[in-house]
Amino acid sequence: MASAFAELRAFRLISDRTIFNFELPQTSAAPAKLISECGAGFGERTTTIEQANIVIIGGGVIGCAIARALAAKWDDVFLLEALPKVGMGASTRNSGVIHAGLYYQPGSLKARHCLRGSQLLYEFCAAHHVPHRRTGKIVVAVAESEGPELLELLARARTNGVEGLQIIDRAAIRAREPHVQGFQAILVPSTGIVESEELVKAYARLATDRGAHIVTNARVEKCSPGPQTIRVSSAAGEIETRCLINSAGLYADEVAAMLGSNMAQHKIYPVRGEYCELIKAKRDMIRELVYPLPHNNGLSLGVHFTKTVSGSVWIGPTARYVESKSDYERDREPLEYFAKLAKRLLPELEATDMVPAHSGIRAKLAPPPHLREPGDTGTADFIIERDPQFPQVVQLMGLESPGLTSSLSIAEQVTAMVSEML
Ligand SMILES: Cc1cc2nc3c(=O)[nH]c(=O)nc-3n(C[C@H](O)[C@H](O)[C@H](O)COP(=O)(O)OP(=O)(O)OC[C@H]3O[C@@H](n4cnc5c(N)ncnc54)[C@H](O)[C@@H]3O)c2cc1C
Repeated sequence: MASAFAELRAFRLISDRTIFNFELPQTSAAPAKLISECGAGFGERTTTIEQANIVIIGGGVIGCAIARALAAKWDDVFLLEALPKVGMGASTRNSGVIHAGLYYQPGSLKARHCLRGSQLLYEFCAAHHVPHRRTGKIVVAVAESEGPELLELLARARTNGVEGLQIIDRAAIRAREPHVQGFQAILVPSTGIVESEELVKAYARLATDRGAHIVTNARVEKCSPGPQTIRVSSAAGEIETRCLINSAGLYADEVAAMLGSNMAQHKIYPVRGEYCELIKAKRDMIRELVYPLPHNNGLSLGVHFTKTVSGSVWIGPTARYVESKSDYERDREPLEYFAKLAKRLLPELEATDMVPAHSGIRAKLAPPPHLREPGDTGTADFIIERDPQFPQVVQLMGLESPGLTSSLSIAEQVTAMVSEML
Protein backbone atom coordinates (compact mmCIF):
# COMPACT_ATOMS: atom_id res chain seq x y z
CA MET A 1 0.00 0.00 0.00
CA ALA A 2 1.43 3.39 -0.96
CA SER A 3 1.93 5.85 1.87
CA ALA A 4 0.18 9.21 1.87
CA PHE A 5 3.54 10.94 1.56
CA ALA A 6 4.41 8.73 -1.42
CA GLU A 7 1.00 9.47 -2.91
CA LEU A 8 1.74 13.16 -2.60
CA ARG A 9 4.96 12.69 -4.53
CA ALA A 10 3.28 10.59 -7.22
CA PHE A 11 0.53 13.17 -7.53
CA ARG A 12 3.08 15.87 -8.17
CA LEU A 13 4.64 13.81 -10.91
CA ILE A 14 1.40 13.34 -12.82
CA SER A 15 -0.12 16.75 -12.30
CA ASP A 16 1.15 20.28 -12.56
CA ARG A 17 -1.81 21.40 -10.49
CA THR A 18 -0.69 22.54 -7.08
CA ILE A 19 -1.35 19.95 -4.38
CA PHE A 20 -1.79 22.47 -1.70
CA ASN A 21 -5.16 24.09 -1.42
CA PHE A 22 -5.68 26.51 1.43
CA GLU A 23 -9.39 25.83 1.53
CA LEU A 24 -9.38 22.06 1.49
CA PRO A 25 -7.96 19.44 3.78
CA GLN A 26 -5.04 17.56 2.27
CA THR A 27 -4.78 13.95 1.26
CA SER A 28 -4.44 13.28 4.94
CA ALA A 29 -8.12 14.08 5.61
CA ALA A 30 -8.53 10.39 6.24
CA PRO A 31 -5.28 9.66 8.04
CA ALA A 32 -3.38 7.23 5.89
CA LYS A 33 -0.76 4.70 6.78
CA LEU A 34 2.54 6.24 5.87
CA ILE A 35 4.74 3.27 6.39
CA SER A 36 4.45 1.42 3.11
CA GLU A 37 4.83 -2.29 2.96
CA CYS A 38 6.38 -3.45 -0.25
CA GLY A 39 7.66 -6.63 -1.74
CA ALA A 40 11.45 -6.50 -1.77
CA GLY A 41 12.16 -9.72 -3.54
CA PHE A 42 10.72 -13.18 -3.98
CA GLY A 43 8.14 -13.58 -1.24
CA GLU A 44 9.96 -11.15 1.04
CA ARG A 45 8.15 -8.16 2.57
CA THR A 46 9.89 -5.18 4.12
CA THR A 47 8.62 -1.95 5.56
CA THR A 48 9.83 1.33 4.05
CA ILE A 49 9.33 4.67 5.63
CA GLU A 50 9.07 7.81 3.57
CA GLN A 51 12.37 9.71 3.60
CA ALA A 52 12.62 13.48 3.74
CA ASN A 53 15.46 15.91 3.73
CA ILE A 54 13.52 18.36 5.86
CA VAL A 55 10.36 18.13 7.95
CA ILE A 56 8.83 21.34 9.28
CA ILE A 57 6.35 20.96 12.13
CA GLY A 58 3.70 23.70 12.06
CA GLY A 59 2.00 25.46 9.18
CA GLY A 60 1.73 28.98 10.55
CA VAL A 61 3.21 32.04 8.87
CA ILE A 62 6.68 31.05 10.11
CA GLY A 63 6.54 27.39 9.03
CA CYS A 64 5.13 28.33 5.61
CA ALA A 65 7.74 31.08 5.07
CA ILE A 66 10.44 28.56 5.98
CA ALA A 67 8.96 25.91 3.66
CA ARG A 68 9.01 28.39 0.78
CA ALA A 69 12.61 29.35 1.44
CA LEU A 70 13.90 25.79 1.94
CA ALA A 71 12.06 24.36 -1.07
CA ALA A 72 14.08 26.72 -3.27
CA LYS A 73 17.24 24.83 -2.26
CA TRP A 74 16.26 21.28 -1.31
CA ASP A 75 13.96 18.51 -2.54
CA ASP A 76 11.78 16.48 -0.21
CA VAL A 77 10.67 19.26 2.08
CA PHE A 78 7.57 18.29 4.07
CA LEU A 79 5.49 20.57 6.25
CA LEU A 80 3.17 18.83 8.73
CA GLU A 81 0.27 20.86 10.09
CA ALA A 82 -2.03 19.53 12.82
CA LEU A 83 -5.14 21.43 11.71
CA PRO A 84 -7.20 21.11 8.50
CA LYS A 85 -5.70 24.28 6.98
CA VAL A 86 -2.48 26.21 7.33
CA GLY A 87 -2.51 29.48 9.27
CA MET A 88 -5.29 28.70 11.72
CA GLY A 89 -3.19 29.56 14.82
CA ALA A 90 -1.74 32.92 15.83
CA SER A 91 -0.86 33.68 12.23
CA THR A 92 -4.40 34.73 11.31
CA ARG A 93 -5.48 35.81 14.78
CA ASN A 94 -3.41 38.97 15.10
CA SER A 95 -3.44 42.67 14.23
CA GLY A 96 -1.80 42.20 10.82
CA VAL A 97 0.55 45.09 11.52
CA ILE A 98 3.85 45.31 9.67
CA HIS A 99 5.88 46.61 12.57
CA ALA A 100 8.70 49.11 12.08
CA GLY A 101 10.86 47.86 14.99
CA LEU A 102 10.43 50.52 17.68
CA TYR A 103 10.00 48.49 20.79
CA TYR A 104 12.58 45.74 20.88
CA GLN A 105 15.82 45.50 22.84
CA PRO A 106 18.59 46.81 20.55
CA GLY A 107 20.63 43.89 19.19
CA SER A 108 17.90 41.34 19.90
CA LEU A 109 16.58 38.88 17.34
CA LYS A 110 13.23 40.65 17.55
CA ALA A 111 14.82 43.98 16.58
CA ARG A 112 16.97 42.50 13.82
CA HIS A 113 14.25 40.34 12.25
CA CYS A 114 11.58 43.02 12.53
CA LEU A 115 13.64 45.59 10.62
CA ARG A 116 14.85 43.24 7.91
CA GLY A 117 11.52 41.37 7.87
CA SER A 118 9.40 44.45 7.29
CA GLN A 119 11.52 45.50 4.33
CA LEU A 120 11.33 42.00 2.82
CA LEU A 121 7.61 41.79 3.55
CA TYR A 122 6.75 45.00 1.69
CA GLU A 123 8.72 43.75 -1.31
CA PHE A 124 7.10 40.31 -1.13
CA CYS A 125 3.55 41.66 -0.82
CA ALA A 126 4.04 43.98 -3.79
CA ALA A 127 5.57 41.21 -5.93
CA HIS A 128 2.91 38.60 -5.07
CA HIS A 129 -0.18 40.80 -4.82
CA VAL A 130 -0.79 40.24 -1.13
CA PRO A 131 -3.14 42.99 0.11
CA HIS A 132 -1.18 45.42 2.27
CA ARG A 133 -0.70 49.14 2.84
CA ARG A 134 2.13 51.26 4.21
CA THR A 135 -0.09 53.35 6.46
CA GLY A 136 2.28 54.80 9.02
CA LYS A 137 1.21 54.97 12.65
CA ILE A 138 1.28 57.24 15.65
CA VAL A 139 2.26 56.23 19.18
CA VAL A 140 0.54 58.70 21.46
CA ALA A 141 1.55 60.13 24.82
CA VAL A 142 -1.88 61.06 26.13
CA ALA A 143 -0.67 63.43 28.85
CA GLU A 144 2.43 65.54 29.39
CA SER A 145 3.52 63.12 32.13
CA GLU A 146 4.00 60.43 29.44
CA GLY A 147 6.35 62.69 27.43
CA PRO A 148 9.64 61.31 28.87
CA GLU A 149 8.54 57.73 28.17
CA LEU A 150 7.70 58.67 24.60
CA LEU A 151 11.19 60.13 24.14
CA GLU A 152 12.74 56.97 25.57
CA LEU A 153 10.83 54.92 23.01
CA LEU A 154 11.97 57.29 20.26
CA ALA A 155 15.60 56.86 21.30
CA ARG A 156 15.29 53.07 21.34
CA ALA A 157 13.63 53.07 17.91
CA ARG A 158 16.44 55.22 16.50
CA THR A 159 19.06 52.90 18.00
CA ASN A 160 17.27 50.02 16.27
CA GLY A 161 17.65 51.86 12.95
CA VAL A 162 14.00 52.76 12.32
CA GLU A 163 13.97 55.61 9.83
CA GLY A 164 11.83 58.69 9.29
CA LEU A 165 10.60 59.05 12.89
CA GLN A 166 9.20 62.38 13.98
CA ILE A 167 7.72 63.83 17.14
CA ILE A 168 4.43 65.57 16.43
CA ASP A 169 2.39 67.85 18.71
CA ARG A 170 -1.27 67.97 19.68
CA ALA A 171 -2.29 69.95 16.58
CA ALA A 172 -0.46 67.59 14.22
CA ILE A 173 -2.09 64.60 15.94
CA ARG A 174 -5.50 66.20 15.36
CA ALA A 175 -4.66 66.97 11.74
CA ARG A 176 -3.83 63.31 11.14
CA GLU A 177 -6.47 61.73 13.40
CA PRO A 178 -9.21 64.31 14.13
CA HIS A 179 -10.85 62.29 16.92
CA VAL A 180 -7.70 61.29 18.79
CA GLN A 181 -6.49 63.29 21.76
CA GLY A 182 -2.89 63.38 22.87
CA PHE A 183 -0.11 65.60 24.12
CA GLN A 184 2.58 64.37 21.72
CA ALA A 185 3.13 61.41 19.44
CA ILE A 186 5.83 59.59 17.51
CA LEU A 187 4.93 59.43 13.83
CA VAL A 188 6.27 56.19 12.35
CA PRO A 189 6.03 56.26 8.56
CA SER A 190 7.29 52.72 7.92
CA THR A 191 4.54 50.85 9.78
CA GLY A 192 1.86 49.18 7.67
CA ILE A 193 -0.77 46.49 7.55
CA VAL A 194 -1.12 43.23 5.69
CA GLU A 195 -3.91 40.68 5.29
CA SER A 196 -2.30 37.90 7.26
CA GLU A 197 -4.45 35.08 5.87
CA GLU A 198 -3.52 36.07 2.31
CA LEU A 199 0.12 36.21 3.34
CA VAL A 200 0.11 32.67 4.75
CA LYS A 201 -1.68 31.41 1.64
CA ALA A 202 0.89 33.08 -0.61
CA TYR A 203 3.84 31.52 1.27
CA ALA A 204 2.19 28.09 1.19
CA ARG A 205 1.29 28.33 -2.49
CA LEU A 206 4.83 29.34 -3.44
CA ALA A 207 6.28 26.59 -1.25
CA THR A 208 4.23 23.94 -3.08
CA ASP A 209 5.07 25.53 -6.44
CA ARG A 210 8.70 24.94 -5.52
CA GLY A 211 8.01 21.30 -4.69
CA ALA A 212 7.36 21.33 -0.94
CA HIS A 213 4.71 18.93 0.36
CA ILE A 214 2.23 20.51 2.75
CA VAL A 215 0.27 17.92 4.69
CA THR A 216 -2.61 19.08 6.87
CA ASN A 217 -4.48 17.04 9.52
CA ALA A 218 -1.02 15.76 10.36
CA ARG A 219 -0.54 16.44 14.07
CA VAL A 220 2.92 15.28 15.12
CA GLU A 221 2.64 12.95 18.10
CA LYS A 222 6.11 11.53 18.50
CA CYS A 223 9.67 12.35 17.41
CA SER A 224 12.35 9.68 17.77
CA PRO A 225 15.87 10.97 17.13
CA GLY A 226 18.38 8.45 15.77
CA PRO A 227 22.10 8.94 15.04
CA GLN A 228 21.55 10.37 11.53
CA THR A 229 17.83 10.94 11.16
CA ILE A 230 14.70 11.63 13.16
CA ARG A 231 11.57 9.55 12.82
CA VAL A 232 8.45 11.72 13.01
CA SER A 233 5.10 10.07 13.76
CA SER A 234 2.04 12.09 12.89
CA ALA A 235 -1.69 11.59 12.47
CA ALA A 236 -0.93 11.21 8.76
CA GLY A 237 1.72 8.56 9.32
CA GLU A 238 5.48 8.30 9.77
CA ILE A 239 8.34 9.95 7.99
CA GLU A 240 12.09 9.92 8.56
CA THR A 241 13.99 13.14 8.10
CA ARG A 242 17.58 14.37 8.00
CA CYS A 243 16.59 17.72 9.41
CA LEU A 244 13.68 18.80 11.59
CA ILE A 245 12.33 22.33 12.08
CA ASN A 246 10.15 22.86 15.14
CA SER A 247 7.85 25.72 14.21
CA ALA A 248 4.83 24.64 16.24
CA GLY A 249 4.06 28.07 17.73
CA LEU A 250 2.29 27.72 21.07
CA TYR A 251 3.17 24.02 21.14
CA ALA A 252 6.88 24.33 20.34
CA ASP A 253 7.81 23.42 23.95
CA GLU A 254 5.69 20.25 23.68
CA VAL A 255 7.38 19.28 20.40
CA ALA A 256 10.77 19.86 22.04
CA ALA A 257 9.64 17.57 24.89
CA MET A 258 8.68 14.86 22.35
CA LEU A 259 12.30 14.90 21.17
CA GLY A 260 13.56 14.61 24.73
CA SER A 261 15.28 17.96 24.30
CA ASN A 262 16.41 20.10 27.22
CA MET A 263 15.05 23.04 25.27
CA ALA A 264 11.59 21.94 26.46
CA GLN A 265 12.42 23.83 29.64
CA HIS A 266 11.61 26.99 27.68
CA LYS A 267 8.00 26.74 28.71
CA ILE A 268 5.47 28.59 26.57
CA TYR A 269 2.75 30.49 28.42
CA PRO A 270 -0.43 31.30 26.50
CA VAL A 271 -1.46 34.96 26.67
CA ARG A 272 -4.78 35.72 25.08
CA GLY A 273 -5.40 38.92 23.12
CA GLU A 274 -9.02 39.83 22.43
CA TYR A 275 -10.30 42.32 19.89
CA CYS A 276 -13.49 44.17 19.23
CA GLU A 277 -14.41 46.10 16.13
CA LEU A 278 -15.91 49.53 15.55
CA ILE A 279 -19.41 49.40 14.08
CA LYS A 280 -19.56 50.54 10.46
CA ALA A 281 -21.07 53.94 11.25
CA LYS A 282 -18.08 54.81 13.49
CA ARG A 283 -15.22 53.55 11.33
CA ASP A 284 -14.34 57.06 10.16
CA MET A 285 -13.32 57.98 13.70
CA ILE A 286 -9.97 56.32 12.93
CA ARG A 287 -7.99 56.89 9.74
CA GLU A 288 -4.94 54.64 10.18
CA LEU A 289 -3.07 53.06 13.12
CA VAL A 290 -3.12 54.65 16.57
CA TYR A 291 -1.17 53.18 19.51
CA PRO A 292 -0.79 54.14 23.15
CA LEU A 293 2.58 53.79 24.87
CA PRO A 294 3.41 50.10 25.34
CA HIS A 295 3.06 48.30 28.68
CA ASN A 296 6.36 48.73 30.46
CA ASN A 297 6.17 45.13 31.74
CA GLY A 298 6.65 43.73 28.22
CA LEU A 299 3.19 42.18 28.21
CA SER A 300 1.89 43.86 25.07
CA LEU A 301 1.94 46.99 22.96
CA GLY A 302 -1.30 48.15 24.57
CA VAL A 303 -4.82 48.22 23.20
CA HIS A 304 -4.57 50.08 19.90
CA PHE A 305 -6.65 50.98 16.87
CA THR A 306 -5.88 49.21 13.60
CA LYS A 307 -7.54 50.14 10.34
CA THR A 308 -7.37 46.96 8.27
CA VAL A 309 -6.83 46.69 4.53
CA SER A 310 -10.58 46.21 4.09
CA GLY A 311 -11.41 49.34 6.14
CA SER A 312 -12.61 47.74 9.40
CA VAL A 313 -11.25 49.16 12.63
CA TRP A 314 -10.06 46.71 15.29
CA ILE A 315 -9.56 47.70 18.89
CA GLY A 316 -7.21 45.47 20.87
CA PRO A 317 -5.58 43.18 21.63
CA THR A 318 -5.96 42.86 25.37
CA ALA A 319 -3.38 40.73 27.18
CA ARG A 320 -4.25 38.05 29.74
CA TYR A 321 -2.41 34.88 30.76
CA VAL A 322 -4.81 31.95 30.32
CA GLU A 323 -4.60 28.35 31.49
CA SER A 324 -5.18 26.62 28.17
CA LYS A 325 -3.46 27.08 24.81
CA SER A 326 -6.81 26.66 23.07
CA ASP A 327 -8.91 28.91 25.28
CA TYR A 328 -9.89 31.64 22.81
CA GLU A 329 -13.32 32.60 24.08
CA ARG A 330 -14.03 31.74 27.74
CA ASP A 331 -14.68 34.77 29.99
CA ARG A 332 -14.06 37.37 27.34
CA GLU A 333 -13.71 40.98 28.46
CA PRO A 334 -16.92 43.03 28.21
CA LEU A 335 -17.09 45.84 25.65
CA GLU A 336 -17.02 48.35 28.52
CA TYR A 337 -13.48 47.20 29.30
CA PHE A 338 -12.32 48.00 25.74
CA ALA A 339 -14.19 51.31 25.82
CA LYS A 340 -12.47 52.31 29.06
CA LEU A 341 -8.99 51.69 27.61
CA ALA A 342 -9.75 53.09 24.17
CA LYS A 343 -11.35 56.26 25.55
CA ARG A 344 -7.95 57.49 26.72
CA LEU A 345 -7.07 57.98 23.07
CA LEU A 346 -10.52 58.51 21.63
CA PRO A 347 -12.71 60.16 24.28
CA GLU A 348 -15.88 60.18 22.15
CA LEU A 349 -15.97 56.41 21.96
CA GLU A 350 -18.69 54.42 23.75
CA ALA A 351 -19.08 50.68 24.33
CA THR A 352 -22.15 50.78 22.06
CA ASP A 353 -19.86 51.78 19.15
CA MET A 354 -18.18 48.35 19.18
CA VAL A 355 -18.91 44.69 18.66
CA PRO A 356 -16.77 41.73 19.77
CA ALA A 357 -14.28 40.42 17.20
CA HIS A 358 -11.61 37.69 17.05
CA SER A 359 -9.02 36.71 19.61
CA GLY A 360 -5.54 35.23 19.37
CA ILE A 361 -3.09 33.61 21.76
CA ARG A 362 0.50 34.77 22.12
CA ALA A 363 3.28 32.21 22.63
CA LYS A 364 5.06 33.93 25.54
CA LEU A 365 8.30 32.73 27.05
CA ALA A 366 7.93 35.14 29.98
CA PRO A 367 6.01 33.61 32.88
CA PRO A 368 3.13 35.44 34.53
CA PRO A 369 4.26 37.98 37.17
CA HIS A 370 3.63 35.69 40.17
CA LEU A 371 6.02 33.05 38.73
CA ARG A 372 8.84 35.44 37.81
CA GLU A 373 12.25 35.48 39.46
CA PRO A 374 13.23 38.79 41.07
CA GLY A 375 14.56 41.14 38.39
CA ASP A 376 12.73 39.36 35.55
CA THR A 377 11.35 42.17 33.39
CA GLY A 378 8.85 39.93 31.61
CA THR A 379 10.45 40.44 28.21
CA ALA A 380 12.02 37.62 26.22
CA ASP A 381 13.65 37.41 22.83
CA PHE A 382 12.79 34.92 20.07
CA ILE A 383 14.67 31.63 20.41
CA ILE A 384 15.92 30.40 17.02
CA GLU A 385 18.65 27.82 17.60
CA ARG A 386 20.10 24.56 16.50
CA ASP A 387 19.33 22.23 19.37
CA PRO A 388 22.61 21.58 21.24
CA GLN A 389 21.54 17.95 21.93
CA PHE A 390 20.16 17.26 18.45
CA PRO A 391 22.09 19.37 15.94
CA GLN A 392 19.85 18.26 13.08
CA VAL A 393 16.96 20.10 14.78
CA VAL A 394 16.19 23.83 14.59
CA GLN A 395 14.02 25.03 17.47
CA LEU A 396 11.88 28.15 17.09
CA MET A 397 10.32 29.18 20.37
CA GLY A 398 8.53 32.22 21.74
CA LEU A 399 7.73 33.64 18.31
CA GLU A 400 5.20 36.18 19.50
CA SER A 401 4.93 39.66 17.94
CA PRO A 402 6.64 40.78 15.68
CA GLY A 403 6.69 37.24 14.26
CA LEU A 404 4.40 38.00 11.33
CA THR A 405 6.52 40.98 10.29
CA SER A 406 9.71 38.98 10.78
CA SER A 407 8.65 35.83 8.91
CA LEU A 408 10.80 36.25 5.77
CA SER A 409 13.86 37.29 7.73
CA ILE A 410 13.46 34.34 10.12
CA ALA A 411 13.17 32.06 7.07
CA GLU A 412 16.52 33.44 5.87
CA GLN A 413 18.17 32.63 9.20
CA VAL A 414 16.73 29.10 9.24
CA THR A 415 17.90 28.54 5.65
CA ALA A 416 21.44 29.48 6.70
CA MET A 417 21.23 27.01 9.62
CA VAL A 418 19.94 24.20 7.40
CA SER A 419 22.75 24.89 4.90
CA GLU A 420 25.21 23.97 7.67
CA MET A 421 23.42 20.63 8.21
CA LEU A 422 22.61 19.28 4.76
C1 LIG B 1 -3.14 38.81 19.46
C2 LIG B 1 -1.92 38.79 18.60
C3 LIG B 1 -1.56 39.92 17.85
C4 LIG B 1 -0.42 39.92 17.06
N1 LIG B 1 -0.15 40.98 16.24
C5 LIG B 1 0.93 40.96 15.45
C6 LIG B 1 1.18 42.02 14.55
O1 LIG B 1 0.38 42.93 14.41
N2 LIG B 1 2.32 41.97 13.81
C7 LIG B 1 3.22 40.96 13.92
O2 LIG B 1 4.26 41.00 13.27
N3 LIG B 1 2.98 39.90 14.72
C8 LIG B 1 1.85 39.88 15.48
N4 LIG B 1 1.58 38.81 16.27
C9 LIG B 1 2.51 37.69 16.32
C10 LIG B 1 2.31 36.75 15.14
O3 LIG B 1 0.96 36.48 14.92
C11 LIG B 1 3.09 35.46 15.45
O4 LIG B 1 4.43 35.82 15.72
C12 LIG B 1 3.10 34.49 14.30
O5 LIG B 1 1.80 34.26 13.83
C13 LIG B 1 3.72 33.17 14.76
O6 LIG B 1 3.64 32.27 13.71
P1 LIG B 1 3.89 30.73 13.96
O7 LIG B 1 3.89 30.10 12.63
O8 LIG B 1 5.09 30.56 14.83
O9 LIG B 1 2.67 30.28 14.89
P2 LIG B 1 1.23 29.70 14.53
O10 LIG B 1 0.51 30.53 13.55
O11 LIG B 1 0.54 29.49 15.83
O12 LIG B 1 1.54 28.32 13.83
C14 LIG B 1 1.96 27.18 14.52
C15 LIG B 1 1.29 26.02 13.84
O13 LIG B 1 1.80 24.81 14.38
C16 LIG B 1 0.76 23.86 14.40
N5 LIG B 1 1.12 22.81 15.34
C17 LIG B 1 1.23 22.90 16.68
N6 LIG B 1 1.57 21.72 17.21
C18 LIG B 1 1.68 20.85 16.17
C19 LIG B 1 2.00 19.47 16.07
N7 LIG B 1 2.26 18.73 17.15
N8 LIG B 1 2.01 18.90 14.84
C20 LIG B 1 1.74 19.62 13.72
N9 LIG B 1 1.43 20.94 13.77
C21 LIG B 1 1.41 21.55 14.97
C22 LIG B 1 -0.44 24.68 14.82
O14 LIG B 1 -1.66 24.06 14.49
C23 LIG B 1 -0.22 25.99 14.09
O15 LIG B 1 -0.89 26.04 12.85
C24 LIG B 1 0.42 38.77 17.05
C25 LIG B 1 0.06 37.63 17.78
C26 LIG B 1 -1.11 37.64 18.54
C27 LIG B 1 -1.50 36.40 19.27
